[in-house]
Amino acid sequence: MLGEWADSGLVLRAGRFRETDIWLKTLCKSKGITTLFAFGASRSRRRFCGCLDVLNTLHCRISTVKNGAFHNLQEAVLLAGPRHLRRDWQRMGQAANCLRFVEALGVPPESAREVFALVEDMRDTLENAERLPALFPLFFRLRMAGASGFAPRLQCCGRCGGPLGENALFLADEGQMRCARCRPARAARATELPGAALDLLRLVQSAPPSAWPMGDMLPTERRACAAAIDGFVQYHLGLAFENGRFRRT
Ligand SMILES: [Zn+2]
Repeated sequence: MLGEWADSGLVLRAGRFRETDIWLKTLCKSKGITTLFAFGASRSRRRFCGCLDVLNTLHCRISTVKNGAFHNLQEAVLLAGPRHLRRDWQRMGQAANCLRFVEALGVPPESAREVFALVEDMRDTLENAERLPALFPLFFRLRMAGASGFAPRLQCCGRCGGPLGENALFLADEGQMRCARCRPARAARATELPGAALDLLRLVQSAPPSAWPMGDMLPTERRACAAAIDGFVQYHLGLAFENGRFRRT
């Protein structure tokens, strides 16, 4: 996309450089994650409407220069953004955690549209929902893996294809389930998933954040879900969350 183009972009991260210029790491609906430079942004409300903030969705007019190496934001109009969320530091922390995961996993153009819809729904759910699932950021990682084409296979046994029933095991590094007959006697990074926890993970994987069940979970289910998602993300996608950031493992 050389020359001028327009797209919807959701701001993942923003920073200042030189005196009046701003860079934006933006999830573009058609292109994936793109860094945009807004020259003179802190001076021109006319071109940028004072809306270059993290979590905002913008209609962007962009010119690409130097053989596609740089994308300059010419003009931006605010399409959607949170109103109350910015004052809730706890929920803003959850939003930031989700955005860091999007950046760490990356977004190729072919999944950009689906991930864009997921991130907007995540933001709107944090803005509007009265309650949230306790594992909201972890659920987001599972759903994001699905939107990126890495969904773990939770429907049936990964070896025999049969139904799972009770005593099923999730193998994180294979990204699949094993039924009671096919489960290995010993396996690293394996999690026992009770039926209710498995049902919940299936639902989270197939539905947007606004449709996730917001009620409490039993501590055993909560631990099993967390261990399964953490294990999958770490060993299948190669990302671990440590000290507030994702690290390649
Ligand atoms: Zn089996």
